[in-house]
Amino acid sequence: MTEKLSVSELTENYNAVKKRLSAALQKAGRPENAVTLLAATKTVDPETINRAIELGITHIGENRVQELLSKNGLIKPVHNHFIGHLQTNKVKQIVGEVDMIDSVDSVKVAKEIGKISAKKGIVTDVLVEINIGEEASKFGLDPSELTETLCEISEIGSVRVKGLMAIPPICDSSAEIRKFFMNMNRMFLDIKAKKLDNISMDILSMGMSGDYVEAILEGSTMVRVGSSLFGKRVY
Ligand SMILES: *Cc1c(COP(=O)(O)O)cnc(C)c1O
Repeated sequence: MTEKLSVSELTENYNAVKKRLSAALQKAGRPENAVTLLAATKTVDPETINRAIELGITHIGENRVQELLSKNGLIKPVHNHFIGHLQTNKVKQIVGEVDMIDSVDSVKVAKEIGKISAKKGIVTDVLVEINIGEEASKFGLDPSELTETLCEISEIGSVRVKGLMAIPPICDSSAEIRKFFMNMNRMFLDIKAKKLDNISMDILSMGMSGDYVEAILEGSTMVRVGSSLFGKRVY
């Protein structure tokens, strides 16, 4: 677990992130509201998450099914996302419990989300995850199969694609990581321009504690920040 933060530490962290985020937006010549700050809350206790919400956090994300379910009832009303790898057999536990699933990485999981959503009489908003560095160790679609896969997903009922998500490889330099983000933004804009049926490209989720400034400079519309807000995680 993350060590419990004092109110003043959390406030300090939150203000520091907001300040860097604003500075990055200004540097990029983008408006103040161009990026949503999503707090990645894995390992963080509900009380601390609620304090972050009181400070102004409007979106949170969990990446483990059990952890999300155990905290869900204890968190103040807020937009909640599932941001981790979702196994097909766990889809039924998540659909209806979150506002968005950010990490759809196969047609198979999208179909299951559609099936369960239809059963529950809802439509589930999703982001499609791209393995931008084409790393064997990471989940996500290969960039080369993106358009084709999106077309397949667009035909699934009760699922609405709202954008893309990516976690780039560990990079040595700011310049190197910006290239990955730039490629993501290019794909995002290309798909958007194609105006595919049932696919809207509103959200480009990229950037975490170590690289959200670079991501914002390259067009991110949602950053997922954990440790910069809540402190270092032990696991
Ligand atoms: C934990 C996590 C984050 C946040 O990571 P930090 O480096 O702590 O900001 C972002 N995205 C996903 C998918 C995560 O699991």
